[in-house]
Amino acid sequence: MKRLSVDFDVMIVGGGPAGLSAALWCRDLGINAMLFERSEGLGGQLLSIYDRIENHLGFSAADGRELRDRFIDHVTNRRVPIGTRSAVASIDVEQKTITLDDGGTYSARAIIIATGVRRRELGVPGEKEFVGKGILHSGAGSRRDVSGQKVVIVGGGDAAIENSVILSEFAEKVTVIHRRGEFRARPELIAAAKRGVNIEFVLDTEVTAINGNEAVTSVDVINKVSRDSLTIAADAVLVRIGVQPNTEMLNDQLVLDNEGYIRVDATGKSSAQGIFAVGDVANPVSPTISTAVGSGASAAKAANALITTSPNV
Ligand code: NAP
Repeated sequence: MKRLSVDFDVMIVGGGPAGLSAALWCRDLGINAMLFERSEGLGGQLLSIYDRIENHLGFSAADGRELRDRFIDHVTNRRVPIGTRSAVASIDVEQKTITLDDGGTYSARAIIIATGVRRRELGVPGEKEFVGKGILHSGAGSRRDVSGQKVVIVGGGDAAIENSVILSEFAEKVTVIHRRGEFRARPELIAAAKRGVNIEFVLDTEVTAINGNEAVTSVDVINKVSRDSLTIAADAVLVRIGVQPNTEMLNDQLVLDNEGYIRVDATGKSSAQGIFAVGDVANPVSPTISTAVGSGASAAKAANALITTSPNV
């Protein structure tokens, strides 16, 4: 017997590409599904892509926002049920219920988690205080704003090194601060950064504070080998030290990997029956828009198979 008291067949948590794809597929499969997105707008990390998108099969876009707008047009035309400004505070995996920030609780026969990742933070004084006052959200989106400025970039992966090249075009000087002696970034990106005459590398060094008055003026750093402290003048700071999955609302009810990503099989099934995870929150290996969209489709089909073949879930 189907559980009688559920609000939906499937609830989808998160309105980025993976969640939207899952919701669209649920709609087409005839599933009574609802997508919950905490922000006012949909799209997730697409809104942080300021470069052209040329590798999404079928069409290109000027930036993430343009692709996001096409996704929204699509789900709107298909009348996919979506609730925005609906922040999910907790998920009860056993009961298959979600509780929103406002206290509202909803139940379903299956849940698809598509909560994505967020930027990792340094956790140093000044990092939050100077957001919008010198702390940059994006390199590509700020390239002209840093004209003639001294820019500090923190990190040693692809994002930090690629942004050092992007920002060096207009900045007076770019200083890349990395905590180790070797970069994690791809060799061709490192080579491009090393060719930049106004790009300096400060290695084996950690940022301990971001300073300023009305806006950022400098960063304090410490060399991990010599223990020498130094203050580096900066008008702008970009922190690109990786990402971390948004899984707090799960309270350790699912099996996660060492980095906190949800472990799933090829169809998106997690360690709990009826709970699926799709997109970047379950994909530390190949987080792309295409893989997110594909995983949303897979999980919708797997959830449909589950609820049609197992009436008791
Ligand atoms: P990432 O590859 O995970 O690199 C993070 C970097 O930040 C590492 O060098 C790491 O140092 C450092 N780091 C981590 N935590 C830190 C902390 N608390 N304090 C100081 N430094 C810290 O992340 P990402 O560069 O942001 O890139 C994220 C993903 O997007 C990756 O998959 C990347 O390949 C992709 N991406 C690709 C491109 C491209 O292909 N053009 C561009 C941007 C991003 P350690 O090395 O010591 O661990």
